[in-house]
Amino acid sequence: MNKQDIKSMLISELNDYFVSVGEKPFRAKQVFSWLHSGTETFDEMTNLSEPLRKKLDEHFYINKPHLIEKHISEIDGTTKFLWEMHDGSAVESVLMSYEHGNSVCISSQVGCKMGCAFCASAIGGFKRNLTASEMVDQVLFSQIVSKTKVSNVVVMGIGEPLDNFDNLLKFLNLINHPSGMNIGARRISISTSGLIENIDKLAEYKIQSTLSVSLHAADDETRTSLMPINEKYGVDCLFQACKRYFSTTGRRVSFEYAMISGINDTPRHAELLIKRLSGTGSHLNLIPLSAVPERGLSGSSMKHIKEFAKLLSKSGINCTVRRSLGTDITASCGQLRVRHLSLKGSD
Ligand code: SAH
Repeated sequence: MNKQDIKSMLISELNDYFVSVGEKPFRAKQVFSWLHSGTETFDEMTNLSEPLRKKLDEHFYINKPHLIEKHISEIDGTTKFLWEMHDGSAVESVLMSYEHGNSVCISSQVGCKMGCAFCASAIGGFKRNLTASEMVDQVLFSQIVSKTKVSNVVVMGIGEPLDNFDNLLKFLNLINHPSGMNIGARRISISTSGLIENIDKLAEYKIQSTLSVSLHAADDETRTSLMPINEKYGVDCLFQACKRYFSTTGRRVSFEYAMISGINDTPRHAELLIKRLSGTGSHLNLIPLSAVPERGLSGSSMKHIKEFAKLLSKSGINCTVRRSLGTDITASCGQLRVRHLSLKGSD
């Protein structure tokens, strides 16, 4: 019999299981809190009888990532983790400290299908979706390994979260649960390259998390040259979806914009952005590019980014420049995994 991944199960699913084997439903909550506090074996679940622990062990396995590498930035303490999953796949997570608490950035897929021109995540192709428990574990074990409490989660690591929709939803539900990590929906951000159908689908769930769209250019020509997904859904279509998202959920979409020298950082690009964002009240985050050598693009200088930001702010756009964290530990999307792959050959 194939064992099932118990940490990916919702409380309601655990409940159904316990009832189906003649156990009391409150077992679901007990087991859920053991799992979501990092317990690695059923034997450690001391409030369950021995026969029940044995039964669970026959039906289920407890997922746990293996830590392959951990790098701590000497500049700002940002910690980057490279985890190995049960099938040998490697994914990374980044733990960052801010004034408002600790935030962990997690991966949603092994590799990525999107193929953005500046990003390391699609190098080596797409391998598979991460399960809900593999996403939970990145938060849980970042917390355990670093002995700090994580208060915020951003799904902005390797992969396209909206391309792994069902597992993403499950993940949100699991880490949000009071018997688990209890991380409030408003403390979670999801970043997408803009899969329109799934932006609409997510809106229907009225989740209170922040949706961040990777824009990187406000015109089709530049955006398509940077993000192949833009050939399918142009900028007009993307902005319409963002508008629908706001009207359905009451939550404004925010935008990310990596500043790439000579490509999307000219005064003309600023003007196009102003036209698109004026009056939307949306927040724009300018990201200093973390140059990926394999991609051959260079980032705009910080001086230029600040001037670009000034131009936007003057026109009433709500715009900030993201602080670059962990620059000494290759902390951007997929960079650690790419280095690991090139040393190892493949996942
Ligand atoms: N697929 C999702 C989430 C992963 S990428 C998305 O596209 O949004 C998370 C963010 O980091 C995106 O805005 C992405 O465009 C940006 N990013 C990727 N590589 C980068 C790099 N080398 N430098 C700066 N930002 C990068």
